[in-house]
Amino acid sequence: MTTPVNLLDFDLEGLAAWCDTLGEKRYRATQLFRWIHQRGVAEFGQMSDLARSLQGKLHGRALVAAPAVIRQHASKDGTIKWLFDVGGGNAVEAVYIPEDDRGTLCVSSQAGCAVACRFCSTGHQGFSRNLSTAEIVGQLWFAEHFLRRHLKTDERVISNVVMMGMGEPLQNYDRLLPALRTMLHDHGYGLSRRRVTVSTSGVVPMIERLARDCPVALAVSLHAPTDALRDHLVPLNRKYPIDELLRTCTAYLAHAPRDFITFEYCMLDGVNDSAEHAQALVELMRRHAASGLRGKFNLIPFNPFPQSGLTRSPMARVQAFGKLLNDAGIVTTIRKTRGDDIDAACGQLAGDVQDRTRVGVRIARQRTVALHQLAPAGAAPAPRKVSS
Ligand code: SF4
Repeated sequence: MTTPVNLLDFDLEGLAAWCDTLGEKRYRATQLFRWIHQRGVAEFGQMSDLARSLQGKLHGRALVAAPAVIRQHASKDGTIKWLFDVGGGNAVEAVYIPEDDRGTLCVSSQAGCAVACRFCSTGHQGFSRNLSTAEIVGQLWFAEHFLRRHLKTDERVISNVVMMGMGEPLQNYDRLLPALRTMLHDHGYGLSRRRVTVSTSGVVPMIERLARDCPVALAVSLHAPTDALRDHLVPLNRKYPIDELLRTCTAYLAHAPRDFITFEYCMLDGVNDSAEHAQALVELMRRHAASGLRGKFNLIPFNPFPQSGLTRSPMARVQAFGKLLNDAGIVTTIRKTRGDDIDAACGQLAGDVQDRTRVGVRIARQRTVALHQLAPAGAAPAPRKVSS
């Protein structure tokens, strides 16, 4: 008996090719794809307009399976965090963040991360493995259909996806791409290109490929105005220094007209948060704007963890830094913290490092009690319509 194929691993093209091996036409693949992603159905017998003959072929050959949820936390502010078991003692997290005009899901792409940014708790735990396409898209599949059931709505709940959870998505490109295509496809989640964001620490060759293959919104973790400082904070900078990265961002925009790049800047007390750093950033951006770079800045209050040896910049300094950039004509916002009571701040998804390295123990302990506790979360938002 061969191992069943997980159909969450396919974008529509891949599913059509796989259905072809069963002697099934493309429109059958489209039907199947819509049942899975638009209606959240995993049982082939419940796909009522799917030909009996195809249902018969699927049984035993295929399944639809997202990673198992180990634990769910719901914040008072409506933010919900799920911990998913991806096997081998590894777990990854996804976070749903409701706002008035959108519902955003922050998705992980790897278990651990090899980039080892100094301010990131995921980076401190090292790299375990790449997630499969099914494990990436499965976070969305689970969250979207869980939330619809929970909110008792047939409307789409998740309007935006940000690949900002654990991992560097562009170091898992081949699995990421079908997941992005499924998010965008009208027969999948139908999200517009600008509502799906890939956040990268700056993997230059893969930014170039993404521009050609699927130019979704791009966010770049910059965190420093000079190579000397960025080498220290984001070690990948030694391979792809700032000017090369920003030139690649400018070229990306040629594939994403009317877009801009979001630059993320984690505010670290006494490290990268002075007026001189802000001024250097202004000069850097002006130099590249002359070649066509359009960018906005998002200042992120650092969420400290013990092993980092770093502390959060005082809010007054974050605001002064933002004002300096805004006064220079660079649109800059300060990221609101959400889900503080469940440790769900973006970029801090891994929790503390000690927890993370002991995640196998935690999974074993929690698996026995957690799944039946997926009762409706008390603080979830009221149903609302979300436009794309
Ligand atoms: S910030 Fe992103 S790229 Fe850097 S270590 Fe953390 S997960 Fe990896």
